[in-house]
Amino acid sequence: MIRTGTEYRESIRDGREVFVNGDRVADVTSHPAFRSMVEIRTRMQDMAHAPDTRDLMTVTRNGEAQVLLNALPFAQADWWAKRRATDAVLDMAGGIVTRIGDETVGEMWSLHDCAAALNDIDPRFAPNIIAHVDRAVSADLFHVSGNAGPATDGTEMALRVVRETDAGVVVRGAKYETAAAYANQAFIKPTLTNWGDAEQSSRAIGFVCDMATPGLKFLCRESFATRSPAEDYPLASRLDEADTLLIFDDVLVPWENVLFYRHTRAAMQVRATLHRYSAFAFVQRNLRLADMLIGVALLATRRSGLNRQQPVQEKLSQLALYRETINAHLTAAITLAERSPAGLMMPNQSLLYAGRMQAVSQLPAMIHLTRELCGAQLALMPDAAAFRAPDTARWLDRCYAGDDWTAKDRRRLMAFARDLLNSDYAGHRLTFQLFAQGPPFAQLAAVYRNFDWEGPLALVKDCAGLSESISERDSLSAGDSTVSKWFATVAPQGVAAH
Ligand SMILES: Cc1cc2nc3c(=O)[nH]c(=O)nc-3n(C[C@H](O)[C@H](O)[C@H](O)COP(=O)(O)OP(=O)(O)OC[C@H]3O[C@@H](n4cnc5c(N)ncnc54)[C@H](O)[C@@H]3O)c2cc1C
Repeated sequence: MIRTGTEYRESIRDGREVFVNGDRVADVTSHPAFRSMVEIRTRMQDMAHAPDTRDLMTVTRNGEAQVLLNALPFAQADWWAKRRATDAVLDMAGGIVTRIGDETVGEMWSLHDCAAALNDIDPRFAPNIIAHVDRAVSADLFHVSGNAGPATDGTEMALRVVRETDAGVVVRGAKYETAAAYANQAFIKPTLTNWGDAEQSSRAIGFVCDMATPGLKFLCRESFATRSPAEDYPLASRLDEADTLLIFDDVLVPWENVLFYRHTRAAMQVRATLHRYSAFAFVQRNLRLADMLIGVALLATRRSGLNRQQPVQEKLSQLALYRETINAHLTAAITLAERSPAGLMMPNQSLLYAGRMQAVSQLPAMIHLTRELCGAQLALMPDAAAFRAPDTARWLDRCYAGDDWTAKDRRRLMAFARDLLNSDYAGHRLTFQLFAQGPPFAQLAAVYRNFDWEGPLALVKDCAGLSESISERDSLSAGDSTVSKWFATVAPQGVAAH
């Protein structure tokens, strides 16, 4: 089933207890803090039905049409198609939105990979995993993710099971979940350290939570969308993704929604592979962000004529370098895609995690470089109302019009740049990029786990003439393992012969 935008909107008008600034929200689809993001998800649903975008957004599997961005990836071609479809969604949104479902649903594909191992640990929940992996596709749900919480181990609000009943487990505590207030379901699981040391910890629980479940309370942070005039804050007013503190006030999770429970080994297994797929969609957002930085820097320096100076061109090249490094990682991750243990097609893991770290760690410097290239106008430009009011507009027109630029365009560019680089929304966006897929140390740990250390080790062992005793293994395979693997398994016919 592929839902229409209208069906999605109706699905979230379920009486959920959402609060902003302490006030209860009557209808998330029309409240100014959420309506713009709900509209984007609505249009995303409708893109799967519209004749001009249907082929781009859907795939047929076993005779059934599925939303391409929900569908499990089996082939390299699926990743090219997903990349193109995500670009189409970001084009439609006119900016960057991350928690709109396509990124977070990848966690369900990781679960698919874990199903056999989790079955070995505790066979009770394997059928639930398979059912929910299928359901995320067949029911076309807006799926989000909850790992981190505000509370540390031992405090009352660390999410944990407080009792078991015939119907399921009752959980209490809190989690952060961006977009939860207008989503359908979430995959809730512990953070890396949040289940305690006990082998059978009550915190080592993973489950699918229906956002309409009684007892859930959605406490959203103050919205950037409601306090920003759209003309002055063109990004914040449309693209603020509401971060939510989701309170579980003794919420019943039916047994059929429990994916693992009381097994720290299962929790660790899930955590270690969680972003195996979703990192791709996340890094693709960084590519879009890089394009926005380049566009702003180029227009600002073209307007002033500074782009003709070589030192300025060198700064623009640094932005291009950043962009192309992300592009290269994404492209290579597809080109050298690898099979998961359960038979899905994963983006090349080492290249993807290296690309994620590169994109996230360099972003603050790239934002600052763009800010520098825009110059002080970024901070000094008067607001849109001043450009409209007759008493002030005539002065502003004289100040800001020139060459091929109207005063209006110049103000619009600087308002856009400010919301991308300088506003409180811009700062929030940067923090999101830094943390949304785990803090930087955890991202570096993913690089460590997925890089194949054997090639460099063998290289230096051979070049330096070291004895066998320095290696834990009898033989090491020299060379770049990703490239060797490609030659061994998927190289087009004839390539290997040259
Ligand atoms: C805008 C935004 C949206 C978010 N949305 C979601 C969401 O939808 N779902 C969700 O689950 N979470 C979400 N998060 C939370 C995010 O997952 C966490 O912020 C992240 O996991 C880091 O946890 P923390 O903030 O508690 O950092 P902490 O664990 O408190 O760490 C803070 C810092 O301490 C240092 N540090 C801590 N431990 C170590 C260590 N072992 N080694 C080295 N350095 C260390 C690091 O510098 C680290 O960045 C969101 C966060 C933000 C900012």
